[in-house]
Amino acid sequence: MKAVTYQGMKKVKVKDMPAPRIEKKDDILVRITSTAICGSDLHLVHGMMPNFHKDYIIGHEPMGIVEETGPEVTAVKKGDRVIIPFNIACGDCFFCKNQLESQCDNANPHGEAGAYFGYSDTFGGYAGGQAELLRVPYGNFVPFKVPEDCEMEDEQLLFLSDIIPTAWWGVEQAGVKKGDTVIVLGCGPVGLLTQKFAWMKGAERVIAVDYIQYRLEHARRTNKVETFDFTEENALGTHLKEMLKGGADAVIDCVGMDGKKSAFEMVESALKLQGGTMGPVQLASQCVRKGGTVSMVGVYGTRYNMFPLGDFFARNITLKMGQAPVIHFIPELYRKIKAGAFDPREIITHRLPLTEAAHGYEVFDEKKDGCIKVVLKP
Ligand code: NAD
Ligand code: ZN
Ligand code: ZN
Repeated sequence: MKAVTYQGMKKVKVKDMPAPRIEKKDDILVRITSTAICGSDLHLVHGMMPNFHKDYIIGHEPMGIVEETGPEVTAVKKGDRVIIPFNIACGDCFFCKNQLESQCDNANPHGEAGAYFGYSDTFGGYAGGQAELLRVPYGNFVPFKVPEDCEMEDEQLLFLSDIIPTAWWGVEQAGVKKGDTVIVLGCGPVGLLTQKFAWMKGAERVIAVDYIQYRLEHARRTNKVETFDFTEENALGTHLKEMLKGGADAVIDCVGMDGKKSAFEMVESALKLQGGTMGPVQLASQCVRKGGTVSMVGVYGTRYNMFPLGDFFARNITLKMGQAPVIHFIPELYRKIKAGAFDPREIITHRLPLTEAAHGYEVFDEKKDGCIKVVLKP
């Protein structure tokens, strides 16, 4: 089968790889119909995660049709249309039962961290979903079966696999409530959805931060937010704070690690709290109000361990973060899309056959051709 594989720093290639097979009694195989590229895939191809090796199949935002089921699978059957969330989770452990599927105790054979499709051996060693076929473990818990009466196309549903529930969770863990002022760092796919959901949760003021002009423009046009270019002269986090007379109630980081910098340079810039363009962590620490909350949705790999702890401590900031537990949010957010509360298609700028994945990675990474979100069609 054809699959998108990692070939070394910033190199991906569509290769013929051995097709997956049912390995456990509750596995299913899914024939992928649509699969997206995520900002997290960029961290992986930038070499920011350990134990991600050559020929690793990438991808964790897929959906498709069930091709085969193991003998113990009762929740779905051959021919069902399914969305595959990026969390691999058993459904049975303490964390799965307490709505923290991203920390499942049983899905990762390699240690303490959670397990995700196409996300390195550290995170379970499972092959990814930018491929023609995907093996999905825990077939009675992981897949979301699209209701049979659903008339929506893949592009309306696909991001339920990750960035829709991730953004929703990011706003929830920020504690956004009626009347709040919310700063969203990043106007990529995750940031744009987060801005929308901050309004839906009752925010009174939403400010979107980025420096890519077409993305700031997209945020203004589709989300009716105020925007702030953090690279403008003197546009430091402290100025945002002054502008807001004390800072925002919540800051949601939808940026994560900067793949343009080496891990060493990131540590260096993290230490530099003044001047220049700042990383999102520094920006967040400066523009959140005293006693406010910073919700970090952006991904920081284990190689990023530098943090302005003193700033957070001095101002009583609450910090929440992690891989989003997406599985339990999907039914509720499916209903919202069906009811027309928002249209996920508005962030899609590129639709490509799977064989053109390398081009998709290039435009998404380099922020070229007005790229916001790439959907691949196997
Ligand atoms: P993206 O790369 O398209 O978007 C990031 C945006 O941030 C870009 O537009 C970039 O210009 C902007 N940016 C860079 N530095 C900035 C700064 N200092 N301040 C403000 N903006 C800045 O990626 P995406 O697909 O939107 O994903 C965003 C992040 O969310 C990534 O780190 C990704 O790994 C993460 N993510 C996390 C989860 C989770 O479960 N926690 C799930 C999905 C994605
Ligand atoms: Zn993702
Ligand atoms: Zn579990």
